[in-house]
Amino acid sequence: MNLDLLRRLTAAPGVAGFERQVRAIVREELEPLVDDVRVDRLGNLIATKRGTSGPTILIAAHMDEIGFLVRHVDRRGFLRLQPLGSFDPRVLLAQRVIVHTATEDLVQGVIETTVDPLHFGPPTDLKRPDVRDLFVDVGSSAEEIEIGDMVTLDRDLNATDDRIVSRALDDRLGLYVKIEAMRHLGGHGSTIVAVATTQEEVGSRGAVVAGYDIDPDICVALDLTVANDIPGASPDQEVTRLGDGPAIKVMDTTQISHRGLVRHLRDIARELDIPLQLEVLDHGGTDASMIQRLRSGVAVVTLSIPARYIHTVNETVAIADVDRCIALLARYLAEAHTRDYAADV
Ligand SMILES: [Zn+2]
Repeated sequence: MNLDLLRRLTAAPGVAGFERQVRAIVREELEPLVDDVRVDRLGNLIATKRGTSGPTILIAAHMDEIGFLVRHVDRRGFLRLQPLGSFDPRVLLAQRVIVHTATEDLVQGVIETTVDPLHFGPPTDLKRPDVRDLFVDVGSSAEEIEIGDMVTLDRDLNATDDRIVSRALDDRLGLYVKIEAMRHLGGHGSTIVAVATTQEEVGSRGAVVAGYDIDPDICVALDLTVANDIPGASPDQEVTRLGDGPAIKVMDTTQISHRGLVRHLRDIARELDIPLQLEVLDHGGTDASMIQRLRSGVAVVTLSIPARYIHTVNETVAIADVDRCIALLARYLAEAHTRDYAADV
């Protein structure tokens, strides 16, 4: 595991529309591995490795993490937050954040709530907290902060022998898998376009633009999916299990994966002896969902890395699943040109 790279990718801040620092790392890693790198007007990084024959494959992983912009500044030292992406407010209480000012200063703050502060007696209002009930205390540093400044959660990556816990693994881990798969790619017939997309967490806005521009035959999105194999969940609610291998998304609410692609990936996994899970998720979507319906249609699939506690600062993945995902993707890219999926629609 190239832990140093993953650490740098997760340490870089970047909410939707503010992906510049993440993009710089991806660019540095991909540039030596491809023929051409460019950035479009929405900030998507598009890295192309040309093939000799066969289809054009777009590999999508998004650079933005869920986070906030400053919505209101109270000069007494408090901020209100505008979420970019879906947070469960229960996981935000008592978290520390970093406000990134326009002059690139980093201001530390703490998230607290207006609802039932602890020392005012037992909680009376048991309603589920809402982001509107939260504020950030930054003290006198509020002077430097403006409406629209980026706010990210403040938490480092932890690694053990078999697991990684970090904020922003969604989807820096997808970027990591893409970079490592490109690094381990041998001969290939297809043209591979590795796209680091922007603004996925607010509706895959970058992917739509990049997909329309590139007009691929095939799109593989790389993202995390739910591993709900935790106490209190019955087996039918697990979606995937941590450590049981990468998952092929069969469907979610916005995408039905192309059956030919699903079959091809399953065949490769069998051949390489990689355990694989099949995923049906009854909420959410990925960049592939939006790319699928562009122009005359794109054959798409999402290769998912099982993760516990998605959209919290403790997103947890198994290192073995990450390594298997890289091996599966690298082999797929090497042999994608050998199959025709026309009969599988
Ligand atoms: Zn994601």
